[in-house]
Amino acid sequence: MIKTPREVNEIIAALKAQGYEAFAVGGCVRDSLLGREPGDWDITTSARPEQLKGIFKRTIDTGILHGTVTVMKNHVGYEVTTYRIDGEYEDGRHPKSVEFTSSLKEDLRRRDFTINAMAYSQETGIIDEFGGMEDLRAGLIRCVGNPMDRFEEDALRILRAIRFSAQLGFSIEENTRGAIRAIAPNLEKVSKERIQAELTKLLLSGHPEKIQEVYELGISPYVSKWFHRVCREHMALSFRLPRKQYIRWGIFLKDTAEEDVVRILKDLRMDNDTIFGVRLLNQWIYREIPLDKPGIRRAMSQMEPEYFDDLLILKGHLGWQPAAEARALTEEIRRDGDCISLKMLAVSGRDLLEAGLAPGQAVGKGLAELLDYVLDHPEENKRETLLRRITSRQLTEGHGMI
Ligand code: ATP
Ligand code: MG
Repeated sequence: MIKTPREVNEIIAALKAQGYEAFAVGGCVRDSLLGREPGDWDITTSARPEQLKGIFKRTIDTGILHGTVTVMKNHVGYEVTTYRIDGEYEDGRHPKSVEFTSSLKEDLRRRDFTINAMAYSQETGIIDEFGGMEDLRAGLIRCVGNPMDRFEEDALRILRAIRFSAQLGFSIEENTRGAIRAIAPNLEKVSKERIQAELTKLLLSGHPEKIQEVYELGISPYVSKWFHRVCREHMALSFRLPRKQYIRWGIFLKDTAEEDVVRILKDLRMDNDTIFGVRLLNQWIYREIPLDKPGIRRAMSQMEPEYFDDLLILKGHLGWQPAAEARALTEEIRRDGDCISLKMLAVSGRDLLEAGLAPGQAVGKGLAELLDYVLDHPEENKRETLLRRITSRQLTEGHGMI
């Protein structure tokens, strides 16, 4: 028995009332059987898209050419797809051509893995034509049908196999493994965005260390041009790492040269925020952080608080003993409101201009010097003190004044 949401039951009931077949299908059935919360509920039906649209009040033509209509219920979308047989896949998402069918079994046959090829309705229970239950129990990722053909139809399935094995903690069945090795070069046909999305899901999963399979199965040369430059000598990926994209990628790439890191991520069309974070980790992860308040304030002043907190967690993860002590000092610094940024400095650029410093470089340099000073002496972060300090300094040095 699976517990399906009320909305799913309603959609299935509405289709049945009109004489069509309908089932929950794919990932939601798999996840329910595993006791995992399904991300979304997909429905498969014998009704054609135009028939579907006549039955439900609110629908969106999500992929109507491929038979998919989204039915809206209480502001949540449910993808309802007509039973179909797929032609060759074009971009790893959509087959070039599809043929509608009236057979549920044919629809299940086109699906990638046995564990993803089960259907369910309250009336019929689980429909399992390809041994999905058995593989679910054995913890196996196995293609539906001949794996060589299935990967040739759509090479993205190669990465999906590894990604599911990482998300579910499953092994890849031997014949499926063999076919992955053989068809790996076809991955070159898959778009970099799709490859990146799969690798990111893999890294964010409960078994990020399974990224090693990408190398062991001979896929890495086809992921992207620079991917083979990843240094894997001291891999430290683990489910214990926070589930943040930049952290998982950052730990994966921590021993790789910074310029290669940027190349690899750009090549995979990674977003700029993630590239920024991964790069920051790459620069800082092995840098020594002094265990005193001035040292910690100085490090804090060089990055956003979230990054600094994560950095300490990650250094701890890599075995840096004083991480806890450093975290305590960080807390104290924050609690006391010590100045760690130009924003927190008691004087502004305008103040320095008014005090007579030349606009531009002199002001910038003045602010930087004052910040550096208060990082060691937080109690001195007072307007009068700092102004006095900068003007007397400028006078003795005799430059930078108007
Ligand atoms: P999740 O949503 O958790 O990533 P999922 O199994 O729901 O996993 P989706 O990509 O949402 O995966 O696809 C839904 C279903 O469609 C799958 O369970 C599978 O039956 C089928 N499917 C998806 N992509 C493919 C593909 N490339 N080849 C064959 N079948 C696929
Ligand atoms: Mg899904």
